[in-house]
Amino acid sequence: MNLQKKIESHIRIVEGFPKEGISFKDFSGVFQNAELSKEIIETFADHVRGEVDLVCGIESRGFIFGFPIALALNVPFVMVRKQGKLPPPIVSASYELEYGEATLEIVEGQIPAGARVLIHDDVLATGGTAAACSELVKKVGAIPASYSFLVELDFLNGRSKIESEAEVFSLIHYQ
Ligand code: IMP
Repeated sequence: MNLQKKIESHIRIVEGFPKEGISFKDFSGVFQNAELSKEIIETFADHVRGEVDLVCGIESRGFIFGFPIALALNVPFVMVRKQGKLPPPIVSASYELEYGEATLEIVEGQIPAGARVLIHDDVLATGGTAAACSELVKKVGAIPASYSFLVELDFLNGRSKIESEAEVFSLIHYQ
């Protein structure tokens, strides 16, 4: 079985969660398979090896693979968190998402100016979250160099918000 098929077999689709009309992709089953998780981390890391200086993982499921990707690449990892979770001084950017609105923050000084950054999250939906993260990266003078996602919801066209800046790599696509 190829990697995509293996991942898909671990994803559960839950209709109407967390709101009516949303078809939620629950991939918590992926984390129960250590071999599969390691293969995913290696695939993400191999894709950007030598091309990024730092990995940003978006709260909260972007932390799960984001940090091990950074370790596999031997580069620093930065937590991009929702508002109010990080102590000052912080840098922030606001955004709209598939079901609500929110603000993302990083601790000031953790992303050096000029760093080539991999922005990693679990799902690319409308692209609002990834675009806000990209704003944060640019605000501190760094470069959004690449994006990676476990799952991309193609029908929401989030890619259009971010692909002009850097390559977008997603392992699984839903039409
Ligand atoms: P966006 O800003 O609309 O691209 O939404 C991306 C964020 O929403 C990610 O951080 C995901 O955690 C979350 N998200 C959206 N849809 C799903 C889903 O079907 N499964 C899991 N998370 C989702």
